[in-house]
Amino acid sequence: MGAGQVEREHTEAIVLKGVDFSETSRIVTLITPDRGKMACMAKGVKRPKSPMAGVLDTFNRIDLVYTWKDTRQVQTLIEANVANGYAGIKGDLDKSSYGAFLLELALVVVHDNEPSEDFYIELIQALNQLDDWTGEVAVFGAWATLRLLSAAGFAPMLSTCSTCDKAIEANPGFAFESGIVCGACSADQRITVGEYKTLKALADYPARCPRIRNGRSIFGLLATYATSQLESPFRSVRVIRQLERESLG
Ligand SMILES: [Zn+2]
Repeated sequence: MGAGQVEREHTEAIVLKGVDFSETSRIVTLITPDRGKMACMAKGVKRPKSPMAGVLDTFNRIDLVYTWKDTRQVQTLIEANVANGYAGIKGDLDKSSYGAFLLELALVVVHDNEPSEDFYIELIQALNQLDDWTGEVAVFGAWATLRLLSAAGFAPMLSTCSTCDKAIEANPGFAFESGIVCGACSADQRITVGEYKTLKALADYPARCPRIRNGRSIFGLLATYATSQLESPFRSVRVIRQLERESLG
């Protein structure tokens, strides 16, 4: 297809975010399997009787038809339908806060117009499980963060010391440049042996999050690691920390 040509395409996507563009239109940012991150203009979607009202809410998994043109930054949405509205995530403050971090991760690591099927599948699996999750949400957040970082090529090293490759025994630590470190190597933060075991347990179960507890400090560690690796401040992490302080206070 030549540059500048308009093609009608069909795909599925997750809505990562949306911003109002005019009184009646919104621009949504999506993650798709084949086009990676993609911005789409949804004309007329804010009209009360629009058939697309509510379809483009953040978190929604949608089927969509759009027109693609290589030369433009924002594509044009033709129609969209909800495949999964993730009511279990949206209706729970903890789940939606940790879920927002997963979407923010996607916004940072997925590139425009670059096939991202592996990452997309991991994100769908994480959202599907989070929607039904009945265990500790922080543990799930830590597990899903590890999954998405792995899919994006940013997994921390956890099996042996990321500095000297020795086995992890007493006094483990975490280096935000690389991952776990042994007691002899320098760390940004020392962690307990119990925390190391939790991290390993989460990494050892790639298909489903294990039902363990005490994930808050592990999520905090991985969120700081992600912030450092990706050189990106995550707004959702501030929200999660605020919620934790409120629940403790
Ligand atoms: Zn070491």
